Amino acid sequence: MAKVLVLGAGISGHTAVSYLNKYLGKKHEVVMVSPNSNFQWVPSNIWVGVGLMKPDQVKFKLAPIYKKLGIEYKQALGVSLHPEGDAEIDSGYVSIKYVSKEQEGEEEKVTYDYLVNATGPKLNFDATKGLREHSNSVCTYDHAEHAWGNLQEAYKKMENGEKQTFLIGTGHGLATCQGAAFEYVLNIAFEVHKRKLSHLADIWWISNEYELGDFGMGGAYVKRNGYVTPTKIFTESILKEYGIRWIKRAAVQKLETGKVYYENLRGEKHTKEFDFSMLIPGFAGVGLKAFAKDGSDISDKIFAANTMMKVDADYTPKPYEEWSARDWPKIYQNGDYSNMYASGIAFAPPHTMSKPMTSPNGTKIFPTPPRTGMPSGVIGKIVAQNIAHQIKTGKKDHPHEASMATMGAACIVSAGYGLFKGKAAVMTVRPIVQDWEKYPKWGRSIKDTVGVVGTAGHWMKLFMHYMFLYKAKAKPLWWLIPE
Ligand SMILES: Cc1cc2nc3c(=O)[nH]c(=O)nc-3n(C[C@H](O)[C@H](O)[C@H](O)COP(=O)(O)OP(=O)(O)OC[C@H]3O[C@@H](n4cnc5c(N)ncnc54)[C@H](O)[C@@H]3O)c2cc1C
Repeated sequence: MAKVLVLGAGISGHTAVSYLNKYLGKKHEVVMVSPNSNFQWVPSNIWVGVGLMKPDQVKFKLAPIYKKLGIEYKQALGVSLHPEGDAEIDSGYVSIKYVSKEQEGEEEKVTYDYLVNATGPKLNFDATKGLREHSNSVCTYDHAEHAWGNLQEAYKKMENGEKQTFLIGTGHGLATCQGAAFEYVLNIAFEVHKRKLSHLADIWWISNEYELGDFGMGGAYVKRNGYVTPTKIFTESILKEYGIRWIKRAAVQKLETGKVYYENLRGEKHTKEFDFSMLIPGFAGVGLKAFAKDGSDISDKIFAANTMMKVDADYTPKPYEEWSARDWPKIYQNGDYSNMYASGIAFAPPHTMSKPMTSPNGTKIFPTPPRTGMPSGVIGKIVAQNIAHQIKTGKKDHPHEASMATMGAACIVSAGYGLFKGKAAVMTVRPIVQDWEKYPKWGRSIKDTVGVVGTAGHWMKLFMHYMFLYKAKAKPLWWLIPE
């Protein structure tokens, strides 16, 4: 009997554990360790943040689902990895600390034959002074609920004739997830317009992108109404249409009540005042430690500088001009321990996709790579398929691959809610990472890289919300729904 341990019940880890359970059945043991007793469909937190959904509509309890599937669930945090075991335990194990009410603070060593690290990002609020205290976030359902409370205050002030300034975007020079912030700013503009308050709203987008529409992918050329358009134009025209002004090439460095301090790529320091803000924090790994059998700290070997786990990528430092699609990982296996994998946001990318930029003061101002839901789910699935293959056949090969430099992704950016007036910008790209050798003209397959805005996109986004929650709840035939 083999034992597979998955850390993190987010989009990637929950996908991995569900497929592991499906492929391995009851003959093998599948264990999930994750601190939040709920699964959350993170993309719909945007709608919680504008009061159009309640947190209960985007989350559900994990324990009953895992009980039904026969997956052992421990509501705990993974603290340290011991891939060689120690003097007493002769196999890899993870030290965990329970956070459930019943067992809070208890520690345990959970052994494994295979480990999947799917711990996602640490929301690194502390990297920007005052960001946690003086801004809002929609990264989790409880953050989004809190943001909605503050947004309602701003609406009330406008209803009483008071002008309000909204500032939405990235809260660090190296932040990613521009797409989520972009969705939020469009939804706010849409709701303000719906309430007939646009004349009292001054809405701003602030971003670390060199050009708008970079989205951490180094931008893209999209086919739109038969024309090839750079995402810069696509994004700027949407912002203009929604009456949103922008600040680009900005590293937010500090926040005080109602005021943001930022530096731009020219090295100039500026401030911007606001009444309501939502700024995405920088992301890092969750800070797991790793130890060898003799107890020595091997974290630097296992994790990259951003504390995300190293996998089968080419991490050799090289200049931007020498980056290649081949640098990106295919099977997400750790190079030092072959039974250890990192899935979803937890894996360390070899480098960014956007060109690194530094201000004359040495401040890095460019987006780090986005790892959206679709690739996170696909990676979780192929990691599960490869582990199940190895356990069932005894072979050590990886028949399933999912490089972000070959796979496509669809991203639906909600731009307003409502069956008939709702809108979304739908973008598909293939591959996610530009491949200038294979696609010398546009960096991507132009026939598969498309952008369109309309009501159909809103219906798709809403349909995806229900479809993915259905899949995550492991309802009948869930595996037929793609990641
Ligand atoms: C507001 C917002 C909107 C978004 N919208 C979209 C969208 O429309 N489309 C899209 O494709 N993508 C979207 N994304 C991105 C998408 O949510 C992520 O790609 C996806 O959640 C990443 O999955 P993951 O499993 O790697 O990480 P997560 O979903 O963050 O899951 C990580 C899990 O690990 C757990 N964990 C953390 N630390 C530990 C530990 N020490 N031990 C054990 N478990 C741990 C966490 O509790 C969590 O359950 C959005 C993101 C945000 C923030």
